[in-house]
Amino acid sequence: MAETKTTVDIPGLSKNARTVLEKRYLKRDTDGNVLETPADMFRRVAEAIAVADRNFDKKADTKALAQKFYDLMTSFEFLPNSPTLMNAGRELGQLSACFVLPVGDSMEDIFDAVKYTALIHKSGGGTGFSFSRLRPANDVVRSTSGISSGPISFMRVFDAATETIKQGGTRRGANMGILRVDHPDIMNFIMCKDDQKHLNNFNISVGLTEAFMEAVEKDADYDLRNPRDGKPCGTLNARKVFSRIVKQAWKNGEPGIIFLDRLNRDNPTPQIGEIESTNPCGEQPLLPYESCNLGSINLGKMVKDGDVDWKRLKEVIHMGVHFLDNVIEVNNYPLPQINDMTRANRKIGLGVMGWADMLILLGIPYSSPEAISLGEKVMRFINDEGHAYSRELAAARGAFPNFAGSIFDRPGEGSIRNATVTTIAPTGTISIIANASSGVEPLFAVSYVRQVLDKNILVEVNPIFEEVARERGFYSEELMQKIAQHGTVHDLPEIPEDVRKVFVTAHDITPEDHIEMQAAFQKYTDNAVSKTVNFPNTATIEEVEKVYRLAYKLECKGVTIYRDGSRDEQVLSTGAKE
Ligand code: UDP
Repeated sequence: MAETKTTVDIPGLSKNARTVLEKRYLKRDTDGNVLETPADMFRRVAEAIAVADRNFDKKADTKALAQKFYDLMTSFEFLPNSPTLMNAGRELGQLSACFVLPVGDSMEDIFDAVKYTALIHKSGGGTGFSFSRLRPANDVVRSTSGISSGPISFMRVFDAATETIKQGGTRRGANMGILRVDHPDIMNFIMCKDDQKHLNNFNISVGLTEAFMEAVEKDADYDLRNPRDGKPCGTLNARKVFSRIVKQAWKNGEPGIIFLDRLNRDNPTPQIGEIESTNPCGEQPLLPYESCNLGSINLGKMVKDGDVDWKRLKEVIHMGVHFLDNVIEVNNYPLPQINDMTRANRKIGLGVMGWADMLILLGIPYSSPEAISLGEKVMRFINDEGHAYSRELAAARGAFPNFAGSIFDRPGEGSIRNATVTTIAPTGTISIIANASSGVEPLFAVSYVRQVLDKNILVEVNPIFEEVARERGFYSEELMQKIAQHGTVHDLPEIPEDVRKVFVTAHDITPEDHIEMQAAFQKYTDNAVSKTVNFPNTATIEEVEKVYRLAYKLECKGVTIYRDGSRDEQVLSTGAKE
């Protein structure tokens, strides 16, 4: 209702943030008129999430808590994932960004999954699937005496459904498609996006096993298995398959890889099921029918007097865990199966954005040993404090229902409220809202020209860079244009050297630097880390292979690479914009 619209302004809300919020997040009437201000939106979200405290304490002061959540979000110290901002306190009420759905080897199962996908996409969630259970192409179909079309042709059905729902939903749907490396159709899968015409609503990753990686090391053959009966049905040379994956990734960025055995080694509830897929951007491994809601702390706001503000960071971690656990309570799940699985494991994904901003504010270059060790220290602190608070919540609210038999169910250890606590999301949109650098990525650019929402072409300057440039007296429109054109500041003599050293961008650092940062954050993250490893256009296939192997060696859970200019159009990936 128009009369609820307040005139409260949020200091620090950038022009871009306002544009993004107006386009998709703010409530509208049926004629398309915007019914709320950004402040109203944050109030709506804060109130809807705070009421969950009443489920545990009839007398909880939810008004005071709503104010705390409101302050937390409007100071841009913490933001929940987009579906929470869009849908909390509204009719749809679906608050999670991440889902994994099972795809069984029957027409019924496949088309049920298509339908479930449509429901999830409509509400702003992304879906991940393993297609490994589907029998290969040209296998028998007993009921019709025909032949099967195989996983890749069925992926096209999911892709078409996603394409069709795009217009009506809250945001474009995104999918992750995974096929195990020992599926008989693996070579076709590796090549399935080669023409860049098909499966544009999918990110694809090959599910690698330890056995496969060992075979790569030994240059040995490995068995393919028909999922219909689990029996070996052929062999391939592991090194050849690995090389093909790398070559395709070099060519146009896909497939990525995920290390399935690692995901399962860290599966907190192995007694409930096996992890077979992640969400679309790879940071959230989930069981079939599981969903997860994410939230990110803006590290750029956690710097005080030239140091990390550990005290405030701790408070924000605790409030973030409280917020995300409440989201599970008030969430309106698209399916009963998802409701049950999600509530039984209570996974949340607290992560960060503004990591590059924090480093700049501290004067530490992204590609330095200090940055790696600070990354580990910060993430370890978030993980430890996040777990500590989840244990506190368990004391008041109970452990997650699947606790018995989980990896936390050990003598002498107390219970915990959430089966996972930490995830590093891409923060593609919420980092725009917070005016922060995204996730744990380096700056994409110091200043750049970009198209926003099809039309408005803006020159954007990194807000910290602009402040420094003005303070130190070297700011000028011409210089900002020059930087946008040039792409980097590292060789521009008009900029002081100490400034050039810290304002590094994704292309100023080596692919190894990217992977080492990913590994530093992964070390203390329950789930996975969303990260794109950028390569210059001139990178060789061997360089890509080296990075894929390094990711394996450094205990990453997967890798996504992008070689500059290698794709006609970059579809949804880390850093994806609305
Ligand atoms: N996601 C999606 N569609 C999008 C962007 C994101 O379904 O257009 C899902 C996907 O599962 C992704 C997750 O949201 O992995 C988190 O993405 P991100 O952090 O970029 O989302 P934000 O909260 O910033 O919008």
